[in-house]
Amino acid sequence: MSGRSKITLDESELPRRWYNVIPDLPAPPPPPLHPATRQPIGPDDLAPLFPMELIRQEMSGERYIEIPDEVRDVYRLWRPTPLFRARRLERALRTPARIYYKYEGGSPAGSHKPNTAVPQAFYNAAEGTRRLTTETGAGQWGSALAFACAQYGIDCEAWMVRASYDQKPHRRTLMHVWGATVHPSPSAVTAAGAKILADHPDSPGSLGIAISEAVEVAAENPDTKYALGSVLNHVLLHQTVIGEEALAQFDAAGERLPDMIIGCTGGGSNFAGLVFPFLREKLAGRTDPVFRAVEPAACPSFTRGRYGYDHGDTAGFTPLMKMHTLGHDFIPDPVHAGGLRYHGMSPLLSHMYELGMFEAVTKNQLECFASAVTFARAEGILPAPEPAHAIAAVIDEARHCTETGEEKVLLTALCGHGHFDMTAYERYLSGEMGDFELPQDRIDTALAGLPDIG
Ligand SMILES: *Cc1c(COP(=O)(O)O)cnc(C)c1O
Repeated sequence: MSGRSKITLDESELPRRWYNVIPDLPAPPPPPLHPATRQPIGPDDLAPLFPMELIRQEMSGERYIEIPDEVRDVYRLWRPTPLFRARRLERALRTPARIYYKYEGGSPAGSHKPNTAVPQAFYNAAEGTRRLTTETGAGQWGSALAFACAQYGIDCEAWMVRASYDQKPHRRTLMHVWGATVHPSPSAVTAAGAKILADHPDSPGSLGIAISEAVEVAAENPDTKYALGSVLNHVLLHQTVIGEEALAQFDAAGERLPDMIIGCTGGGSNFAGLVFPFLREKLAGRTDPVFRAVEPAACPSFTRGRYGYDHGDTAGFTPLMKMHTLGHDFIPDPVHAGGLRYHGMSPLLSHMYELGMFEAVTKNQLECFASAVTFARAEGILPAPEPAHAIAAVIDEARHCTETGEEKVLLTALCGHGHFDMTAYERYLSGEMGDFELPQDRIDTALAGLPDIG
């Protein structure tokens, strides 16, 4: 076992292809359905929203997809990303476990999101798109897409959930720096937004509402398309650079492959990106890790949602997707992990969860912030509130190893830094932060609005 705490790869080891898990699954995921006809959608149904190459990737049965040179050139600004062995955290916990984290916070936007924003902007620019619309919660995805659009000379227009637009102005400014236009959502510029404002002038917004607005504008303008930062197959595909690099890094470190891989799940993309390449190795019989998804107790799609067809947005413009959902009308309590506050989940991961291919647990935010502070004091890096969920679960497992004496190898993705989350950390440190109970009747009410499909 190597003594290094930081395992880096040479630029020449930047992955050349993304890994598509679908051909390796025992059964294919159920198809998305057209919201009006309720028939499986084809490429033409998606053409108003996405460029053809992304539609091809969304539906692809090929195991590997080549990463274009123009995308690898931009990836090289921050990739390959480092894998760290958290020796100081291990010592602080007095655990015999060996804890590793793949750090994605060194990207321009400070998270894993540019891994997909860059190829999405590239394929759009290559096919003549002039403008991309999108939604953003706390601004992680909006800032990643604004950066990516600036690389290929296309415009970016983002609808930012109202509550974050008001409370988190700094990521909005970052989007402006990279040249994007940012609207608070709900906004008066779209019919979907105006309708909600008429009924609820003080609406704090939600990701589901912001998606409706961005999709509406893309559908109505031929030179404009839409980009989504999580949930879809092509997004998960692009994130597999994380797991591919991590596999090479375990090899370079002379470390055995992890016994457990833990990741936070909002729409599922950083978890999938880390896990899928290891799952490929597991399916081939070369390793046998446990995979554990961690979601917020305030937005528990896997653990308390229903596996059924639902809309991706509030207005019902998007295709119906079979996924673990809390209902498209569900508005989660305002926990600080904005990136995890989505009512649905990746349909691909939802299908795999039903097949029993990984576990899911929930965490309350106070425990997550306590874990993030423990982590920052030991390792130096301040985690975003989203990966703090994964860190809380890693610390649980490491403590379990302390009791049993097991020398497990644990791996997680530290998928973003928390430098734009100082208000949340301040609230935690000053004792003002609380936890939320999510009563079952709130979930039941939102689930009652699900479309009636088998
Ligand atoms: C967006 C975001 C998430 C949640 O999205 P996933 O698709 O589940 O990865 C988690 N962490 C960070 C830092 C994010 O920006």
